[in-house]
Amino acid sequence: CAATRIFHSTRAPGDLPPESLPMTAAAYAFSLLSSSTLPGRPALVDAATGIAISYPSFLAAVRSLAGGLWCSLGLRPGDVALVVAPSRLEVPVLDFALMSIGAVVSPANPVSTPEEYAHQVALSRPVVAFAAPEVAAKLPGHVRCVVIGSDEYGRLAASDGRRAAAPAAVAVKQSDTAAVLYSSGTTGRVKAVAITHRNLIALMSLHADNREKVAREAAEAGEEPPPPAVTLLPIPLFHVFGFMMVLRSVSMGETSVLMERFDFIAALRAIERYRVTLLPAAPPVLVAMVKYEEARRRDLSSLLVIGIGGAPLGREVAEQFASVFPNVELVQGYGLTESSGAVAATVGPEESKAYGSVGKLGSHLQAKIVDPSTGYVGDDEATAATVDSEGWLKTGDLCYFNEDGFLYIVDRLKELIKYKGYQVPPAELEHILQSHPGIADAAVIPYPDEEAGELPMAFIVRQPGSNITKEQVMDYVAKQVAPYKKVRRVAFVTAIPKSPAGKILRRELVQQALSMGCRV
Ligand code: AMP
Repeated sequence: CAATRIFHSTRAPGDLPPESLPMTAAAYAFSLLSSSTLPGRPALVDAATGIAISYPSFLAAVRSLAGGLWCSLGLRPGDVALVVAPSRLEVPVLDFALMSIGAVVSPANPVSTPEEYAHQVALSRPVVAFAAPEVAAKLPGHVRCVVIGSDEYGRLAASDGRRAAAPAAVAVKQSDTAAVLYSSGTTGRVKAVAITHRNLIALMSLHADNREKVAREAAEAGEEPPPPAVTLLPIPLFHVFGFMMVLRSVSMGETSVLMERFDFIAALRAIERYRVTLLPAAPPVLVAMVKYEEARRRDLSSLLVIGIGGAPLGREVAEQFASVFPNVELVQGYGLTESSGAVAATVGPEESKAYGSVGKLGSHLQAKIVDPSTGYVGDDEATAATVDSEGWLKTGDLCYFNEDGFLYIVDRLKELIKYKGYQVPPAELEHILQSHPGIADAAVIPYPDEEAGELPMAFIVRQPGSNITKEQVMDYVAKQVAPYKKVRRVAFVTAIPKSPAGKILRRELVQQALSMGCRV
């Protein structure tokens, strides 16, 4: 129905450095940081222990580690370094140190399996991996591994800044790759997504612009501008959302409170203890805030903004949240790993009331809405290519803009399940299921779930004579994938519906699953 139409951002263009200026994202963050009032506040806090790192210590640690990486490890611009650890204080220091010398940060999930790491390593070809002690043994043996917290790491981190310093300015173009993140994109297995320094610089400038807008609105209303944020990060730092939030926090001289693992009660406790003002999270956190009494028993009075993204947020949940927490602004945002994070978001309390919308396009952005029925059907190659020949990134989401420029995400067309905001590529699970001798065919679909958003559900065709059970199906997959990718529902069928070209008709299966309801 909808004709192809291009939408332009209505937000004021931000103050970006000229693209021709050589600059790393780390250098840009530090330049913004030094131009804001230099904060006498911690850069990082570990939620569990309360251990904090001040800004002077953080900057010194980054400089010192950069010196070690450059001089002792010999890392150079363009070298890829895998970073595989839970959200510990060392991780942001490492990320910034790597980016500051032009090395490419490649953060990966610490709960992945050896097979998953082998696939990622084959794609991104790291020259070194920095791994938490509990992760190191799962990485492929041929990759040089430095264990975070080991003596070797300690020596790198404590390099003498005078004798072993990285060059003050490395020859890095903004168009060079700063980070490689992992995402399955629109179809198939996990892919390595290159994000440039320019991408990160543009996103940091967007946050700086938003802060200015909010401060201006406060001044117009005769109010004080909000204080620098204290951000609790229950979202992982290896996902684009968490990765970007730390960049934002540092560039604005704010405080990031890190949580190794998401735990709702611990998050509430951390909000109370550290007087957290900003909580970026996936939709299940908002559901929990609305549902659990505990959230009302705690003193959450410091919380000013909760930023929700990464997966669809139901309008009803948003409305319920607004009625239970009327003083907390609900920022809704939308983005992809491939877009290096948020491309649309609400800015300010007025916009945030557009419940169900993911806000307006960010500065400098354009979006093209194409009719999916006339888009790339029958052209698998074009569909598989995530960026088309004109440079448009295909999101794989079904969206529309209303007349005021608010974006609505209606559905997901691509092959992707989002379990609690984590990516679960169905093709990967199907591949595993099809390798079982008792399974003739299999398809995996997203099954709607109030708490998790979506659950991976498998449709199984048994081999003749096989009597494989649901539990056996689930166990078989669970042994081979990271815990968030587990199959959580199973149905047995006699055939998987497919198109004449052999593509699984997932929509049909979702309908079938819903009509089966509790029988599954
Ligand atoms: P990721 O690369 O893990 O961030 O996943 C990106 C995908 O998550 C998008 O293409 C959407 O399908 C989905 N997504 C992210 N944010 C939202 C949102 N606010 N509403 C609906 N879907 C979202």
